[in-house]
Amino acid sequence: MAKDPIYLDNQATTPLAPEVFDVMVPWLRDNFGNPHSAHILGRKAAAAVEVAREQVAGLLPNDGKTLFAGSATEAINLGFGAVHALKAAGRDKIIVLDTEHAAVRDTALSYEKHGFMVERHPVGPDGIASLEKLEDAIDDKTALVAAMLVNNEIGVIQPIEAIAELAHANGSLMLCDVVQGYGRVDIPGNVDMAAVSAHKIYGPKGIGALWVRNGISLPPAIHGGGQEQGIRSGTLSPALCAGFGQAAALCMSRRDSDAAHIQALADKARSCFVDWTINGSTEYRYPGNLNIRRDGLDVARLMSDVRSVAFSAGSACASGSGRPSHVLAALGLEAQQIKSSIRLGFGRYNSLEDIETAVKYINEAVEAQLA
Ligand code: PLP
Repeated sequence: MAKDPIYLDNQATTPLAPEVFDVMVPWLRDNFGNPHSAHILGRKAAAAVEVAREQVAGLLPNDGKTLFAGSATEAINLGFGAVHALKAAGRDKIIVLDTEHAAVRDTALSYEKHGFMVERHPVGPDGIASLEKLEDAIDDKTALVAAMLVNNEIGVIQPIEAIAELAHANGSLMLCDVVQGYGRVDIPGNVDMAAVSAHKIYGPKGIGALWVRNGISLPPAIHGGGQEQGIRSGTLSPALCAGFGQAAALCMSRRDSDAAHIQALADKARSCFVDWTINGSTEYRYPGNLNIRRDGLDVARLMSDVRSVAFSAGSACASGSGRPSHVLAALGLEAQQIKSSIRLGFGRYNSLEDIETAVKYINEAVEAQLA
């Protein structure tokens, strides 16, 4: 059997933590109760869901509620529902950063058909949004500002606290896609909504959550039995909830050791990729994401030459579609520079040896290609 590749694509998804698997199994195998049933089996399942909700909420701001959803994409879609009430109050503008994940960007654009004007706000060559320009853009017509904490493609960290302040100064709401930072980077307490995903923190796929500040009302997005406060009907999976909760609890208990480990992996990688240029800010970034380019490189060829390392050309989302990365384009990179960029994502279960071996394979293939 072929050996598994070294996995360096931890922004696309992460492996399931063994502790998460262990917590999920009894809910899949033995405890089949519907958490919305009134009898003892249902109550037991409901209690597990609520424990998980607390665990997930433990890494989110205070004074809000945490709603489970099928993914962060779904959570973001739920959160955008808040704009309907603001439209009735004369606010018909939505601002999103130009480098947002499609989950935010395309959801925002879908509101054009509801009469909203959607503004995609530019970032600088370092990938960071300018606060001065945002201050000019946000006005009393703005219903919602959506900006991500950590960019999935280039790892840069946006000044979310300051952006939320600007939004609030104009009476606008602030939604933050914290998917790539949750459990690893502090989430400013002044956002109004935050979307998270379990599978980016060594939890299961198929579950995310939306945190909503108290006092913000969301319309029902999925109609039915009235679960999740009537906003997202449908029977919850106790196994997925429990797995998500355990993954969040692990992030909390291992926070310092995980952070030190990721930093060590990043330092190692950066010291080995000397002839490469980092895309995006070198200062304001999550170290587990290394997006780098090497002039003249054909990344499609590199990826087929280096099959023993699982890494990504730009973003997994963008590369799957064949479209050039909108994030790298937003930095002002030329098409050729975009095509010569790769993303390496380091995670909890990578070793220093993984990095050394992967870098060796990549650098050897690059030298052979550019010779
Ligand atoms: N937002 C960001 C920044 C992401 O990286 C992703 C996943 O790649 C998502 C949203 C969507 O998350 P999910 O897969 O849970 O829908």
